[in-house]
Amino acid sequence: MTQSRHITIIGGGLAGPLLACLLADAGHEVTVLERRGDPRAAGYEGGRSINLALSARGLEALDRIGLKQVVLDTVVPMRGRMMHDEKCNTAYSPYSHVPGEAINSVSRGGLNCMVLDAAQSRSGITLAFDVDCTDIDVETATVTFVAGDAPPRTLAADLIVGADGAGSMVRQAMHDASPIDDGTEFIDSGYKELTIPAAEDGSFQLESHALHIWPRGHYMMIALPNGDGSFTCTCFWPIEGPDSFSSVDSPESIRTFFCSHFPDAAALMPGLVEEYTDNPVGLLGTVRCNCYHHEGTAVLIGDAAHAIVPFFGQGMNAAFQDCLRLASCLAAHDDLPTALRDYDSTQRPDGDAIAALSLSNFIEMRNKTASPFFRCLQRIRKQLSMNFPNWYMPRYNLVSFTTVPYADVMRQVARRRITFPLVALGATGICALFVLVLLGII
Ligand SMILES: Cc1cc2nc3c(=O)[nH]c(=O)nc-3n(C[C@H](O)[C@H](O)[C@H](O)COP(=O)(O)OP(=O)(O)OC[C@H]3O[C@@H](n4cnc5c(N)ncnc54)[C@H](O)[C@@H]3O)c2cc1C
Repeated sequence: MTQSRHITIIGGGLAGPLLACLLADAGHEVTVLERRGDPRAAGYEGGRSINLALSARGLEALDRIGLKQVVLDTVVPMRGRMMHDEKCNTAYSPYSHVPGEAINSVSRGGLNCMVLDAAQSRSGITLAFDVDCTDIDVETATVTFVAGDAPPRTLAADLIVGADGAGSMVRQAMHDASPIDDGTEFIDSGYKELTIPAAEDGSFQLESHALHIWPRGHYMMIALPNGDGSFTCTCFWPIEGPDSFSSVDSPESIRTFFCSHFPDAAALMPGLVEEYTDNPVGLLGTVRCNCYHHEGTAVLIGDAAHAIVPFFGQGMNAAFQDCLRLASCLAAHDDLPTALRDYDSTQRPDGDAIAALSLSNFIEMRNKTASPFFRCLQRIRKQLSMNFPNWYMPRYNLVSFTTVPYADVMRQVARRRITFPLVALGATGICALFVLVLLGII
């Protein structure tokens, strides 16, 4: 084993406690400082998406802390996409031909509680909630914080991990110590969550094992099933302009808009107007950061390093992969600067790649899934991957059902964009030549 370290993790959301478990299992002493109350005691503070798509990368990390099966027992598998048009017609497209291959709808609050329980059960981990960090010094790896009514404390460690989400205070402290090129690029769409409740008998009112999409060009709605028979719907709409959150803002316009564009969903949403009016519009953006560490004393994981738009359902999955990679770099190198450099050089290209893939999937989901041509292309891709599994796997499947690094997925996809048209052109040329020879023309 490498040297045992004192490690402070700022942020007890999804990635922080999972990393704490991996590090404690490797013999390190870990303290997790979380700004909010303990969700297990206080009830989960909602407001963001209440369910998430968990796939292969996230499951790999959960497996490493012994939680995979516990979590899988609570999820609703989604085996394909169900597209809804404005006339209430539906079209189903399975994600994979491989039996059992599905993405999983998991409760964000439930999962957060499970990773916190796993951390709590390990010796070597201290969890502190309701913590207000007043100063983070990345040069000395010290954090000054106030917890409840207690006087301010300063905690010294060997390493500070920023698992504190998109608006990371640790990233800011790194920037202040030695300027890094970081920032958030917002897109012009935001999101709002709504609910399709369970039927009176507790059953699902839509197909339960699918991710539902209402693609409408420059805006869309999706719905993921919850274990209690309800669906969490998320509207991804422009913030301003026509067909946007700002133009649909009165009870009358909400009813009219939903009845014209999402009629089948609107019929299943008795609390539509109240929910739409009460729920906030969340912003969506990509955090870009050209360095994930500060020398050997501070490092970023998850959204703190690379918050992404949610259209591939990979933010948490990518955050969990960071945890695995950071734990393995710390195990491989006794020297902290070397370990963090190794982590940075392997994880940052993946963070950049999944950010780009997620942005491009927005276009695919809201525009292309509605097109019969796209669905035909999907069927061809599925046939190719069924018949030549070692040679071809669709991009979605590479991202969701494998742990192939995101940067490699990007490279494969880019290579195909060049080779496929060439192969198609070559095959057409050979066929044409064959026909010409048969006809005796040449
Ligand atoms: C609409 C939407 C849908 C999404 N859907 C999916 C999906 O389907 N699949 C998927 O994989 N991902 C999805 N994501 C992304 C996913 O939510 C994030 O990538 C994931 O939560 C990142 O985990 P994290 O631990 O890095 O950050 P977070 O979960 O944001 O946790 C950060 C924690 O740090 C705490 N904190 C912040 N500042 C401080 C401080 N100064 N001191 C102490 N604590 C602090 C916060 O309270 C929080 O608990 C979605 C995101 C959105 C917005």
